[in-house]
Amino acid sequence: MKTSLAEFKQYIAQLEEIDSIVIDIQKAEGIYIWDTDNKEYIDMLSGICVANVGHRNPKVVAAVKEQLDKYMHVMVYGEARQAPQLNYAKRLMSLLPDNFQQIFYVNSGSEAIEGAIKTARIYNGREEIISFNNSYHGSTLGAVSMISGEEYTRKFRPLIPMCNQIEYNNEKDLEKITQRTCCVVAESVQAGGGVVLPKNDFLKKLRERCTQTGTLLIMDEIQTGFGRTGLLFGFQHYGIVPDILCIAKSMGAGLPIGAFLSSYKIMNKLNNHHPLIGHATTFGGNALCLVSALASLDTLINDHIIEDVERKGKIYRQFSHPLIKEMRGVGLFNCMQLYDDVDWQKVLVSCFEEGVITGTHLFATQCFCIKPPLIITDVQIEESLCRIKRALSRV
Ligand code: PMP
Repeated sequence: MKTSLAEFKQYIAQLEEIDSIVIDIQKAEGIYIWDTDNKEYIDMLSGICVANVGHRNPKVVAAVKEQLDKYMHVMVYGEARQAPQLNYAKRLMSLLPDNFQQIFYVNSGSEAIEGAIKTARIYNGREEIISFNNSYHGSTLGAVSMISGEEYTRKFRPLIPMCNQIEYNNEKDLEKITQRTCCVVAESVQAGGGVVLPKNDFLKKLRERCTQTGTLLIMDEIQTGFGRTGLLFGFQHYGIVPDILCIAKSMGAGLPIGAFLSSYKIMNKLNNHHPLIGHATTFGGNALCLVSALASLDTLINDHIIEDVERKGKIYRQFSHPLIKEMRGVGLFNCMQLYDDVDWQKVLVSCFEEGVITGTHLFATQCFCIKPPLIITDVQIEESLCRIKRALSRV
């Protein structure tokens, strides 16, 4: 069934006006999305790093259908024990370093960040929260308070006090982390900045500084998680272990769920509060989302999908074109950076016309997302590159 654009815009509040790249979605499967005119698109955004195992992965769909016949939502607190919550927690923790001993389920990435910083504050009683320039951790007020740049935050003031930003990959700036700092929130590879990789052991130095000052290191693996970078989580490339791990997006493989994990010692602190003061959330740990999450995780591991991600990513990074300044990234977490004088909006429209769904990065408009589902085949990679080449050549 077709949807009227005018009616859609009348009823659904929008964040931006880009009429040239709207799609009337018919269906999505694997790496593809089709519109209601049956035009096929390759999804180079993976629904913003959600469809790591592909859209409507058959194992995910089967698990959700099975759960639908049992129950959907019941109360998530107290003694209402739900097997999908426990099954997922045990499976995920079996794949993680030992200090991740408990998980708290939420509904989104922003909420995972909120829960993590609240837990950190309860844990050490400190006030200052440090994040990095060109980082996006969500759209709730706490997460917005962590964004650097007046233009992103001005209209939402007053923000949460004591949120300060330092520069990513700037070793000297790590000195600003002190014994007054409650926590540092960092991405293993910066997404919004246009896929910025840590350099010169930066994350190790960050970890050391946090340990020295008794500051909790919170890792935002919301975009980089679940095999996107070629390992289950991005931090595993850099020889560090964070104190709190935030996950979401591809965790639910198409259903909304997020979580944060840490040690008993830290997570126990949430326990000492009345639930409404700790971090209450009606749908956190919803059974449908969790069976979807488990089927997705099992698929990533059992089908050895993650092991092939870096090889596939390299194919993209070898691509060149006169308009491209650099192809960079890790695994299938890549960006195509165009020269500064190239009109990125034209490129975006041209990609859509050629059947490639992509987007630029929040803090880097010349940088296009090359983040297809991890299940993409070599033939499909070639097809996506042919389409991108045609799109660039028409600009
Ligand atoms: N952190 C990162 C790195 C993200 O990319 C995003 C979402 N784009 C978030 C946090 C927030 O996640 P959500 O939109 O699920 O709240």
